[in-house]
Amino acid sequence: MDELEKKLRLQICDIGKNLFNKDFIAANDGNISARLSETEVLATPTGVSKGYLEPHMLVKVNLQGEILEAREGYRPSTEVKMHLRIYRELPEMNGVVHAHPPFGTAFAIKGEALDKMMMPESVIAMGEIPLAKYGTPSTEEVPDSIMPFLGKKTAVLLESHGALTWGKDVMGAYMNMERLEYTAKLTFLTRMIHGERELPPNRIEELVALRSFYGM
Ligand SMILES: [Zn+2]
Repeated sequence: MDELEKKLRLQICDIGKNLFNKDFIAANDGNISARLSETEVLATPTGVSKGYLEPHMLVKVNLQGEILEAREGYRPSTEVKMHLRIYRELPEMNGVVHAHPPFGTAFAIKGEALDKMMMPESVIAMGEIPLAKYGTPSTEEVPDSIMPFLGKKTAVLLESHGALTWGKDVMGAYMNMERLEYTAKLTFLTRMIHGERELPPNRIEELVALRSFYGM
């Protein structure tokens, strides 16, 4: 096993622990993956808590989802299909995270996109977080539902299900999941105190212009 693979396996386990401890996933939910090479992806196995992952539990699949390497008793999740769709469509993206963070998932169940431009960091880093249409988990409906956003966004809510984020590396994908949940939580909290308030349009424009400055 080369250094990159070792590093990615440890990083995925670490992210799993964070997702679990932050309450972004319950029991065996959620999945994380990272592109290892042009043709190989490392992914978390099904039926295992992502809070208690060990590097050897991860499975290696190709971009078609065929298992290349897996220890006995471990197989990829059927939800890996949405990860693979991202890797096939976006060669520059190398990490994907799927979770059910409570605030984000509440909006996903309500069927409401997170499209209020309320604070500078969210506008710069994320912009609108759209809602991908509901699809039955494990079918091609879910990957199909995210197609309109590929190449434009790095975070989406999955209607009545949860959230999906991706990035140039797996840590970037995880950061986007944190941002998504933070945005959902703020939207919820400001609504609770009747304080939901967007920045004025000219201020939003200024922030959008800063995106290139921050390398977004
Ligand atoms: Zn899920």
